[in-house]
Amino acid sequence: MKEYTCHHCEHQVTSIHPVTFYEQERERNELLCDDCYSEWLESMKG
Ligand SMILES: [Zn+2]
Repeated sequence: MKEYTCHHCEHQVTSIHPVTFYEQERERNELLCDDCYSEWLESMKG
């Protein structure tokens, strides 16, 4: 099974979520694990 490294916590996980961060004028694509992804979703809600 393929493993991925979470961009945020750097854990090795098999379930990953691609997210797009917007920084000024550029977009950055990163991979987040389940936990970090749910935190990111919460932060997007404000
Ligand atoms: Zn993570």
